[in-house]
Amino acid sequence: MRDEQGIEAEATELLQTLIRNRCVNDGTVASGQETRSVSTLEAYFNGAGVACERYTSEPGRESLIARIEGSDPKAPRLLLMGHTDVVPVSPDGWKRDPFGGELVDGVVWGRGAIDMLNLTSTMAVATRRLAKDGFRPRGTLIYLAVADEEAGGNLGAGYLVDRRPEMVKADYVITESGGVPIPTRDGHVLGVTVGEKGANWRHLTVAGTPGHGSRPFRTDNALVTAAIIIQRIADYRPAARILDAWKNYITALELDPELTAALVDPDRVWKTARDMDNAALAREAHACTHTTFSPNVAHGGSKVNVIPDRVEIQVDIRALPGITSEEVEAMLKEAMGDLADRVTIDTPPNRRRGGSLSTIDTPLMRALSRASGALMPGSTVVPAMTTGGTDARFFRWKGIPAYGFGLHSTRIPYTEYPIMFHGHNERVDTESLRLSAMMWEALCRDFLG
Ligand SMILES: [Zn+2]
Repeated sequence: MRDEQGIEAEATELLQTLIRNRCVNDGTVASGQETRSVSTLEAYFNGAGVACERYTSEPGRESLIARIEGSDPKAPRLLLMGHTDVVPVSPDGWKRDPFGGELVDGVVWGRGAIDMLNLTSTMAVATRRLAKDGFRPRGTLIYLAVADEEAGGNLGAGYLVDRRPEMVKADYVITESGGVPIPTRDGHVLGVTVGEKGANWRHLTVAGTPGHGSRPFRTDNALVTAAIIIQRIADYRPAARILDAWKNYITALELDPELTAALVDPDRVWKTARDMDNAALAREAHACTHTTFSPNVAHGGSKVNVIPDRVEIQVDIRALPGITSEEVEAMLKEAMGDLADRVTIDTPPNRRRGGSLSTIDTPLMRALSRASGALMPGSTVVPAMTTGGTDARFFRWKGIPAYGFGLHSTRIPYTEYPIMFHGHNERVDTESLRLSAMMWEALCRDFLG
């Protein structure tokens, strides 16, 4: 019991420090400055018998690798990966200081509390405890704290996978996100993220002809054309695809059987999502079964009395795993119809990305099930997919199974989590920190032997 309290206190303190380090990544190369949290983690591991190395992609953009070397080169290598950067905040919406790391009634508040400094912290706690305990596994344990996940990972996980592949060579990877208990009649379901969609963004430039705003009749106004294009993209309905990860996940939730059947039927899922009362489930069901197109930015026009000749539209496109960049572009053109030839389509750098999917039936999945089942009796792990992006994709693209997991208590209802990711009032209870840290430790002992 004292040991469990010790784990909880240690993970809480480390999380608070990581939150206070304020490694805010706004997408610019000069932001993030994850070197602060790399120093925190290096100091934390100091003297514990963990070999640490730091890697710099750009000034201040550092990642840390810590290893416990295995004795058997044939045994599996497991990489636990957390990111140290966080997204910006709108402080006005917060009830507490977003970078204060305050502990209030067993809950730690702050940006990154669930995305994903909680896991970065608990993975470190487990690694350090194992090392201090003299854990000499057969398989190698690699702890990786990366920069830049929130801006696409090219200065963190992507950099290491490309430039230092020998340092992050692993047979299995675990990172965010999953493990928030969802209540069902048969106990709690814990999602293990096995796949994600690909961010396949596009910038559209709509052309028109400039003219005097006092004579708009029969002119070629780029803004008016853009408005029609935006509406067409918003209305576009690509065919649905049902992936096993979606089917398994929605079945495990034990919803009404008729509803479940409709949500895994490619011909019925769209109408079902349109008509259901639960908007959150509707959005999830739609996004997990379709490539989505969201026109989110528009810039155009220069002056109130000038008919604009140029409008830029940015579309956030998320492709299902298995959909190619060429297919995405064909869908976009189909959506725009006869206006497609009025538009130049550009892809921002590093955004021609496919989705990624890991195999589900692996020894690691079974070990995760054992480790979490022991801490949360009656729970079941279920493969799931995420509509967002994580650093897992860099490994999946190389054929390495990469899962998203963690273990949370039931104190904060699962319905709160989607609101807290990148939202206001991000927070985590300390029991969840204890559960995750204990789960990582048990998993490593079980899986790496
Ligand atoms: Zn994250």
